[in-house]
This record gives sequence, C-alpha cells and structure tokens, in this order.
Amino acid sequence: MNIEDTFLHQGQRKKLVLTLREKGIENEEVLEVIGKVPRHIYFDKVFHNKFAYEDVAFPIGAGQTISQPYTVAFQTDLLQISKGTKVLEIGTGSGYQTAVLCEMGAKVYTIERQRELFVKTKRLLHDMNYRAQAFFGDGFIGKDVFAPYDRIIITCGAPHIPEELVKQLKIGGRMVIPLGEGNKQIMTLIVKTGENTIEKTEFGEFSFVPMLMNKQY
Ligand code: SAH
Repeated sequence: MNIEDTFLHQGQRKKLVLTLREKGIENEEVLEVIGKVPRHIYFDKVFHNKFAYEDVAFPIGAGQTISQPYTVAFQTDLLQISKGTKVLEIGTGSGYQTAVLCEMGAKVYTIERQRELFVKTKRLLHDMNYRAQAFFGDGFIGKDVFAPYDRIIITCGAPHIPEELVKQLKIGGRMVIPLGEGNKQIMTLIVKTGENTIEKTEFGEFSFVPMLMNKQY
C-alpha cells in the first residue's frame, strides 16, 4: 500500500516518543517501534494530522477506540517480545497494537469480535504487508488450534482472567491483561508458572473499552 507518511507525521512521532519517555517508558526497542509505525494509518483519514500522535485513545468506529500510545508501549514492554515470539492478541481494533507487535518481530494471531472492525483491519494489516493472522471470534475462547502461545495480550477491559486463555499459554509464558469492569482496569501481568499455577503482578490503573461476551456469530 502506498502510504502517505509526511515530514509532519514523522516529526509528530518523534515528539510522541519523547512524551512516552517522559512518562516513564524506558524500553528502547518499544520506543523505536513507536517512532517507526505510522499510527495515522490506523485512524480515519479526517483525523490524521490532528490527533494521531497525541498520547490519547481515540474512537475508531463501532463504539471502539484505538489504545493510547502510552498504553500500547506499556503493554508491549511488559510482554517482553523478541524475534519469533508467538503472540495472541485479543481485540484487534484498529490494528495499531498488532502492527507494533509485528514490528517487534512477533508472530501475531489476533481476534476481534466486531465484524466491521475485523473486516476493515484484516485488509489494512494485509495491505501493510504484516503477516499477522486475523480472526473474527470471541477472545474469551481464544484460538486453540494455534496454541500454545508464548505471550497473550488483552487490549480490552476483562471482567476476570479467561480460563481458556490461561490454558492456551505456554508454561513460562506471559499474559498482559487489564482486569476490571467499568472505566478503570488494573494492568496485570500473569506468568504461567506450571500446568495449574500462575503468578500475578499488578501495575496500576488504565482505562479500556470492555471485553464483551455472548455475541452471536
Ligand atoms: N488493540 C486495539 C485496541 C482496540 S479497543 C488497537 O490498538 O486499536 C479493544 C477491542 O477489543 C475493540 O475493537 C473490541 O471490539 C474488542 N473486543 C472486545 N471484547 C472482545 C472479545 N470478547 N473478543 C475479541 N475482541 C473483543
């Protein structure tokens, strides 16, 4: 795809990286990728210049939002990605987090429950030459056929830790999940320490759209 990435966009991205540094993101690889991925591509065109590089979440249609860059950086850092890491993402949304994971070298499987977003973003990721595999489905169920995963990232607010997802995580694997209902979630890192054991660490409050169940497919 022929994307328009102007000097203005590039300059705005540099500023965004500085902002993220100031807010405490120290992972150089994550910062480099944020500095590289054209976030405006994952926005509606009308908003390209104005909001794409502000450190805020923003509506992407179907009542959903593209995550705030700080949140994307924070979750990506917690995941600890290296080349070839197999990642399951719940909540494809705009595809921006997916793109960041791909640029980090991850092999990404991503699930979205809103058909409209799924169709649009699957095409976009393909056009951007990312080899992420995008699925329409329910994140609570995960994607068993490709399990186990080294990492699982949930990009919507989960009411509880989905059991199926823990099953699909490798022993020694990490899951990053914002836990809680309503407007505030606690960013939580789960390490699967054994077949039936996990270790939980909490990292403060974030704000996500809800992870929803019970949709008809
Ligand atoms: N990673 C996205 C974040 C989008 S917001 C981005 O960077 O743009 C969270 C997304 O999770 C929404 O698109 C929402 O539709 C989706 N979602 C909510 N519940 C879900 C579920 N049970 N399974 C899969 N996706 C879900």
